[in-house]
Amino acid sequence: MSDVSTKTNLLSLSPAKMEEFFLSIGEKKFRAQQMLKWIHQYGESDFEKMTNMGKALRAKLADISEIALPEVVYEDISKDGTRKWVMRMPGGSSIETVYIPENERGTLCVSSQIGCALDCSFCSTGKQGFNRDLSVAEIIGQVYVAAMSFHEPGERRERRITNVVMMGMGEPLLNFDNVVDSMQLMMDDNAYGLSKRRVTLSTSGVVPMMDKLGDVIDVSLAVSLHAPNDALRNELVPINKKYPLAELIAATNRYLKKLPDKRKATIEYTMMDGVNDEMEHAHELAELMKQVPCKINLIPFNPFPNSGYRRPSNNRVYRFRDYLISQGHVVTIRSTRGDDIDAACGQLVGNVEDRTRRSQKYSESAKANATRIDAVQIDNEQDGRSV
Ligand code: SAH
Ligand code: SF4
Repeated sequence: MSDVSTKTNLLSLSPAKMEEFFLSIGEKKFRAQQMLKWIHQYGESDFEKMTNMGKALRAKLADISEIALPEVVYEDISKDGTRKWVMRMPGGSSIETVYIPENERGTLCVSSQIGCALDCSFCSTGKQGFNRDLSVAEIIGQVYVAAMSFHEPGERRERRITNVVMMGMGEPLLNFDNVVDSMQLMMDDNAYGLSKRRVTLSTSGVVPMMDKLGDVIDVSLAVSLHAPNDALRNELVPINKKYPLAELIAATNRYLKKLPDKRKATIEYTMMDGVNDEMEHAHELAELMKQVPCKINLIPFNPFPNSGYRRPSNNRVYRFRDYLISQGHVVTIRSTRGDDIDAACGQLVGNVEDRTRRSQKYSESAKANATRIDAVQIDNEQDGRSV
């Protein structure tokens, strides 16, 4: 996407903003729907080919607007069907997007920021520091690129993406407006038409923004918990010092109450050997989670260089899961996919030009590998398999 263009990038307009755009140039609202379809369903970026737009309008659009797409620098397909794209962002950083096919589902894991400012102790994105928020065009551009990879431009695309999870790089609630606009596009029938149950925002617990989110949209919610008490969570997820567990749980319940249907939250729990995977943690977690209608998703830690953590043995993971199940919880274990193309959780290679200097502090060798995002976090929503 060009840094310098003064033209409006139509890829970046939410359905409401697309209507405003057409009204502002003296056109009728229905043009917005037509344009959304051309862009997001047909993958058309050449105004001349938009035959239902009229010649004069096409010329006007070419004059004042453009459809500027992300620059894909690399694409790979794994043996198990997982796909990965590396996209270069203006400014030099790059991000990755991963598609995971699974029976009837196809889940896309999307990033919201380049890096992350929140510095969770076990997260390689956090260790890379923070560069900047992604724009709407850069967020929805990830969905566009993935969706279009399944068809030729100009053809109506097939619905291969059924679920989107905002679980790539970054804390989506700290890039609120752009993430909300992008999710509106994901759910709009003229764009990607995804069910609100199948678009999931994952947050580490930015409590005030969770309330704001519930006021404007009704996507599914995943909460990155990782610890069943404040002392441990303060260590693993530092934002817990600002918004401790009791507040996070209350905010999660407020969010669920605002949803028009009965939906559970997904509680993400990354398991690290000897850190948060002891039976005493399982007991505490089982108790705590009785306060929230939820499904618990256990994520065995994916190691990265100098992380200081280890992945627990399968036996420890199963023991933990079995206890939670015995207490009446619904529990899934996230499986590793796409590891032959480095697309599994914690294997993704982005490239963050860190503005916080955290990556330098973290260590020189980590900086050499300051290239990971922890993205392929699937098990999006309510239809996840229980194991
Ligand atoms: N910032 C948001 C969304 C991105 S992180 C959040 O924290 O929820 C998406 C998920 O990946 C989080 O649940 C996070 O805890 C998990 N994750 C991060 N690093 C990981 C690692 N090394 N191994 C396994 N999961 C990891
Ligand atoms: Fe940021 Fe999420 Fe990683 Fe924490 S786990 S550092 S909030 S991306």
